[in-house]
Amino acid sequence: MAAASFTSLLSVTIFNYFFDEPRYEIGFNSPGDVLVLILFLVIGAITSNLSGDLRQQASRAQRQAREARALFQLTRDIAVARDTQEIFRAIVHQCNDIFECETTLLTPFTGGGSETLALASPRARAAALQAAYPPHAGLTQEDIEAARWVFNQGLPAGRGTGMWPEMQATFQPLETSEGTVAVLVLRNTAREIVRSASFRRVIGSICRLTALAVEHTLRKQELENARVVSRTEGLRSALLSAISHDFGTPLASIIGSATSLISYGRSYPPEVTAELLTTILEEAERLNRFVKNVLQMNRLEAGALVPRLQWADVGDLLSTALDAAHRRLSLHEIYADVEDKLPLVNVDFVLMESVLVNLLDNAAKYSPAETSIQITARRLGEDVGIDISDQGRGISAEELGAIFDKFYRARHRDRTVPGTGLGLAICKGIIEAHGGTIEALSEGLGHGTTIRLRLPVKTPDVAVTAEV
Ligand code: ADP
Repeated sequence: MAAASFTSLLSVTIFNYFFDEPRYEIGFNSPGDVLVLILFLVIGAITSNLSGDLRQQASRAQRQAREARALFQLTRDIAVARDTQEIFRAIVHQCNDIFECETTLLTPFTGGGSETLALASPRARAAALQAAYPPHAGLTQEDIEAARWVFNQGLPAGRGTGMWPEMQATFQPLETSEGTVAVLVLRNTAREIVRSASFRRVIGSICRLTALAVEHTLRKQELENARVVSRTEGLRSALLSAISHDFGTPLASIIGSATSLISYGRSYPPEVTAELLTTILEEAERLNRFVKNVLQMNRLEAGALVPRLQWADVGDLLSTALDAAHRRLSLHEIYADVEDKLPLVNVDFVLMESVLVNLLDNAAKYSPAETSIQITARRLGEDVGIDISDQGRGISAEELGAIFDKFYRARHRDRTVPGTGLGLAICKGIIEAHGGTIEALSEGLGHGTTIRLRLPVKTPDVAVTAEV
């Protein structure tokens, strides 16, 4: 307006000086001159108003475009974020850019750890509020107290609001349908920014968007925690029952045999001493197998069990496994039939041996004494197939697929036989890590079982880590 008035006055003066009679002097000689002055002023005022409006509209449009771009960017960053920390980082960076301030996001959940705070009371959650991003934000105690208040009340506070307007920072709650999930703290924002209508509009959108994102990540985290808890629970209870069942008996035998040897060892004839020592050895081996199985399962699950491949002869593999299991097979007749000129297989010898020992052990465990166990190895197309068949109790059709699951033990009947339900799961993991397959075949209960392994003659170059 000032510029327009100045220009109008200047124009009238120039017009008056150069063009109005008498020329080259300034003076209002007729009412027309005054009219010209008023006309110029009015036109100047109107034009300045119009262009001022236009300029305001243009800058508002630019600001809105910037805000929309920032919100879009934020949405995109959140959508591609891989974890909670990345989401938190995206929120904080966008707020810093849009409001030219230092933003901190506080939540009771830090994105790591196994807190199940979603289940805790709001008061407990408010008490656990801490800087999630950036983690070392340097908030004062006063800031944290204010953030807790905002978290509890679900209302904004600090600079630009009705609550503690004298504070340096502005506190905005991030609310979802289930209450406040986080608090955004914007520090060192200019007063005029936080007071503007556009701030309220943009911060509203950001809060809604980020609250949803935070809630989503919390849900994911809760789910993961629940999964970990149930996995850990499953593992724990299976281990406990296995320990009470499997550890109890061998330990009692070991302690009993060792005690008798210490107390009366000298008076025992040599064969009794030998028998007691054998018992100790066998039972200790059983415990060792159990512990090994649990450790191997752990390594398989952590993806840390990568086969060290070497070329091996199937006959060698089988005889090493039979040697290792010979004591447990002593009550059975073993028949091995290995096809001539079988190609070598590219396997981890130690892991394959443990698979075969586990399978032979099962064949002996789940079939009556004096029955036979048949081992066959032959070429099946591009694979080498190894069958281990017994004449034992067999497996019902509906349980055939399930016996390879972790901790699966065929119901009820097996409680009398020691075991953890881990052996076959481990075998499957190891065989699959070699690019092979394992399956159980049985004509039904009472008709014996065959476990069939197939190993590719050419193992893939890259060892696949098993997923169990
Ligand atoms: P565990 O023997 O420690 O119970 P495994 O994973 O080796 O665990 O076996 C899982 C279940 O599969 C066993 O509990 C048993 O019910 C069944 N099973 C495995 N091998 C045989 C077999 N040769 N004959 C009958 N049942 C078997």
